[in-house]
Amino acid sequence: MSTFIFNELNFDNHEQVVFVAEEKSGLRGIIAVHNTNLGPAMGGCRMWDYASEAVAVNDVLRLSRGMTYKNAVAGLPIGGGKSVIIGNPKSAKTPALFEAMGEALERLGGRYITAEDVGTSPADMAHIAAKTKYVAGLGASGDPSPFTALGCFVGAQAAVKHYLGRDSLEGLTVAVQGLGNVGYDYARRLHAAGAKLVVTDIDQAALERARAEFGAEVVEIDAIYDVQADIYAPCALGATLNPATLSRLKAKIVAGAANNQLATAEVGELLRRKEVLYVPDFVINAGGIIKVCYEYYDKPEADVEAHVREIGVTLAEIFRRADAEGLPTSVVADKLAEARFKQ
Ligand code: NAD
Repeated sequence: MSTFIFNELNFDNHEQVVFVAEEKSGLRGIIAVHNTNLGPAMGGCRMWDYASEAVAVNDVLRLSRGMTYKNAVAGLPIGGGKSVIIGNPKSAKTPALFEAMGEALERLGGRYITAEDVGTSPADMAHIAAKTKYVAGLGASGDPSPFTALGCFVGAQAAVKHYLGRDSLEGLTVAVQGLGNVGYDYARRLHAAGAKLVVTDIDQAALERARAEFGAEVVEIDAIYDVQADIYAPCALGATLNPATLSRLKAKIVAGAANNQLATAEVGELLRRKEVLYVPDFVINAGGIIKVCYEYYDKPEADVEAHVREIGVTLAEIFRRADAEGLPTSVVADKLAEARFKQ
């Protein structure tokens, strides 16, 4: 077992990994605290019907490590962590399950602060909050997705400025993959800035809305990779950038909200060689965690937007360094994060 954990690619010097179980509620969960050099670890609590415990461990370690990098580059006074509850979010939820998770967080004494994630809801967070104050994003001021969308828009502007030398998105074509909470709002901003939209989603209603509201052109799910676009905006799934999609991609810029867009780390270098400007996912999509962090620490809501807009400044620096050092933007973003949290 120890060989499996410590040799796990994503273990990467996690400070603490806690396995929690409670008989009465049936809780089986894992809390991963990757790094707290910059402050308490913050990251969501995911509930998922994992195929095996090994898959759950790998997922929580990968996500927790990712939060350290995201939070550090976003300039937040927090570290990286994540938790998972093993179970079907559609059938296995009870208040007692989340209360037991809350008790487990309380025992960590604030080293990890949780929040909503895939498979969990504000109502679940309220049950956790019955047992601990170490829970953020209770929905007091609403869904953080509009701030993630703002960060994406600012990121697209920074990329266009750097790569095309333009201050405006007017007349550019953006291929948006996924019109959910973030994608739709991002599309609205792109449309308002004069961009042409080509969109896809599995949700027909969202496509109809985008067609009516933004005059968007709709394409089939798989056809999004072939669109003659200036920007490809992945806002649905991870790992959409891989050798197969790269050979089809026409866009010169990738700027979208999805987590873990690169199927493998090597794809960052493939994008660089293809002269595609990749906007690193964990930098561009930090708007939501910035909002949640401000809310948790009772910092003025009026300052959130300015902080999210800083994403554009950070990206401009990453693009400059990537050019100067001949490195993929993904590598430069990692280095920037490490310089901040590895003190
Ligand atoms: P969401 O579930 O609201 O939206 C996802 C959309 O993608 C849905 O409309 C869904 O129908 C669509 N979709 C699913 N499969 C698809 C496919 N094969 N092709 C095209 N569309 C497909 O999620 P969201 O909150 O908008 O988040 C979008 C992405 O951004 C996710 O990867 C998420 O992890 C990431 N992200 C979100 C936030 C946030 O604040 N919500 C923050 C950081 C990162």
